[in-house]
Amino acid sequence: MNVADSRRAASALERFGYEHAPRADDADVIVLNTCMVRQSAEDRAYGRLNGLRPLAKKNPDLVVCVMGCMIGVKGNQALKERFPFIRIVSAPSDIRPLVEYLASQTDRQDEEKQTAERFAWMDGELALPVREQNQLVSAYITVMDGCSHACAYCIIPSKRGGEKSRPPEHILSEARLMVAQGVKEIIFLGQIVDRYGKDRPDYPTLAGLLRQAHEIEGLKRIRFLTSHPSNITDELLDAVAELPKVMPHIEVPNQAGDDQVLKNMRRGYTVEEYRQLIHRIRQRIPGVSIATDIIVGFPGETGEQFQRTSDLLAELKLDVAHLARYSPRKGTLSERKMPDDVPDEEKWRRFRLLEELQKGIATGINARYLDQTVDVLFEEKKKGRWRGRTPTYKLVFVETDEDLRGKLLPVRITWSGPWSMRGELAE
Ligand code: SAH
Repeated sequence: MNVADSRRAASALERFGYEHAPRADDADVIVLNTCMVRQSAEDRAYGRLNGLRPLAKKNPDLVVCVMGCMIGVKGNQALKERFPFIRIVSAPSDIRPLVEYLASQTDRQDEEKQTAERFAWMDGELALPVREQNQLVSAYITVMDGCSHACAYCIIPSKRGGEKSRPPEHILSEARLMVAQGVKEIIFLGQIVDRYGKDRPDYPTLAGLLRQAHEIEGLKRIRFLTSHPSNITDELLDAVAELPKVMPHIEVPNQAGDDQVLKNMRRGYTVEEYRQLIHRIRQRIPGVSIATDIIVGFPGETGEQFQRTSDLLAELKLDVAHLARYSPRKGTLSERKMPDDVPDEEKWRRFRLLEELQKGIATGINARYLDQTVDVLFEEKKKGRWRGRTPTYKLVFVETDEDLRGKLLPVRITWSGPWSMRGELAE
């Protein structure tokens, strides 16, 4: 989501005549987009801010804008005090303060102010910044901001505010613009993307939005993430199964395989409900791949409870598991009320156990692709190898001198590992 937000900020800057600077040292404006989902992300943001100190000292005109969760919807005065060179702050996804500042700096104030007003509502008009035009193959589009579900551990709702769906016409016009600029795949984003439109009776559901996006000519693939288990409807699954451009891949976090832990997390479903959901997804979407998120070491998680998470992963054999060690986030329910009592080494131990387990599962799943021919959408060349994705979102590398960017081609898989595959272009 921050990638999508940063892209919008970059596009807005270009509207004011700015160009991308290859190095921070050369920039007049630096926008730092921040994440707080875990301590490691927050530490990185502080690291970058500290790194900007000498630049700000050298260049008193440097405009530093900090956006994202470190500012949050409520602002962050302490951060401005600690880093006095910060000139602009903005809430996640909100590029208005930046745009207003830029407008206030121009000579042609009246005209540009008007533009700023327009920009305040430029939702749907910003596509790719120049350097990504006809380069970027797969693009994120945020379809809803914020989140109104209060998972005990999660800081996002308090930083991004309540759930708010974007108007479908803005989403679709942004998608059309991006496709006109070379994008072949759109990934719709929401904290609970399967709730799209639930806050607005006049908007379509996510299934409806997918159907509308499906009509966009030139668009080859559509994906969406992340879904919350309690909101996945048959209507949505059937849309995925029916619409050829919508890829058979569902990201639906489980977080824990123990009912008490799920309850403590305030997730709102049981292990059995999650299990049934996975069966339902597999039944309705043939060949589907499923990704999950797991948190290990949530407060109070016993060895036995952890074992149940491990057993569930072993049983369900999902394609991907994004693993995280619990990180207390200030102000969340778990941080206030539940002591972070699983020692760090133990969190690491559980993390590694699941990593090993998932590695074996993914190796087995991916091995089934060997000698198969699958359609791969190629995105970019790195270190001499083209990288692309299968419909199931598996990473595939192909070595060739041909220009494959944006091409959707059949590839025969010649090697498979747990995290990626290699192949060659099929005849
Ligand atoms: N709303 C989205 C995004 C959440 S952030 C979703 O539900 O997927 C992505 C993942 O980060 C979450 O699924 C969760 O597994 C993890 N996460 C969130 N807060 C965390 C915390 N305090 N400690 C560790 N992992 C966390």
